[in-house]
Amino acid sequence: MTQPQNILGMDIGGTKIEVSLFRLHHQSIEKFIPFHTDSTHQYSIELVDDQRIPTQRDNGYEDVLSRIADLVQKVLNDNNLKVADISSLGIGLPGSVDPNTQQMLKGNTNIFVGKDLKADLSKKLGSQFSIQIENDANCFALAEALCGAGQKYRTETGVNFNEETSIGIILGTGVGGGILLGGKLLKGKNGGGAEIGHTQLISNGFNCYCDRKGCVEQYLSGPGFSQYFASKSPTMAEDPPSSKDIFAMAEDQKPIALRIIDDYQNLLVQFLANLNNILDPDYFVLGGGVSNQDIIYKGLEEKLYKQTFLKQSRPRVYKNTLGDSAGGLGAALLPFLEEGILK
Ligand SMILES: [Zn+2]
Repeated sequence: MTQPQNILGMDIGGTKIEVSLFRLHHQSIEKFIPFHTDSTHQYSIELVDDQRIPTQRDNGYEDVLSRIADLVQKVLNDNNLKVADISSLGIGLPGSVDPNTQQMLKGNTNIFVGKDLKADLSKKLGSQFSIQIENDANCFALAEALCGAGQKYRTETGVNFNEETSIGIILGTGVGGGILLGGKLLKGKNGGGAEIGHTQLISNGFNCYCDRKGCVEQYLSGPGFSQYFASKSPTMAEDPPSSKDIFAMAEDQKPIALRIIDDYQNLLVQFLANLNNILDPDYFVLGGGVSNQDIIYKGLEEKLYKQTFLKQSRPRVYKNTLGDSAGGLGAALLPFLEEGILK
């Protein structure tokens, strides 16, 4: 039996940085998160420690890099481990990552753009282990497919992870996505694959910072939803409620909120139907703040089915099961996926 391996996952966001230490067991252990990629390889993942610091991106790259290295070192020290005891590190960044250089090309925390974080962090830590960097929405999609909602699908259908197509979508401050085809992340030539938040939902709609109009993100993210509400309710346009407040208003049966949420769901269906007709996935998994609102799932699969071109195509739409821990876990699993180092 292969010994358990210590693996690290790092979730870097605009406001906080989280480092998680996991132990990967090469067998199924019920009290941790058991998962498998096919019928012969069984694993389970144990969360050992989890620490975070504020990003403080205004301090610049060098400062953030030093504090990241210190945080990794602290997690190791607190668990009586040395750098040499670690098998791999995966990092999720809030932006598009070049699949060849693993450098961030574009994103909201632009201090990382064009920086060789992989080499710089390796140097600071004096590490030899494998480091993989990926877009954070891809990390979310990977974690949910392998260890989260995807497990429900495989239990129901008997399909293997390596054979399925799944799409993870974060409906949060923005809209991000990750696509897994046959156990591999779809990245595209430059790392711009699966930027599904910047596909057009409404012709000539709200302006987007990406220079297009009517992007998905401008309607289905939390702020986008609030913006949409403002456009439909002139009396509240000056100071529109947040997406969370709109859902709270719906719980109080406020007609305007119920109407706007119905619109939101219809737009979400359009978006999922577009993706479905391109990829015909086994399932979708939704994450991010808006995904926690149960009302958006009511009748959603049936509405989606009415819009699929091929009637054999009947994708499931799952709410995430891992919550906020998906980012760090997905990052930790990256080297596993990319290099197959933990067969
Ligand atoms: Zn856009």
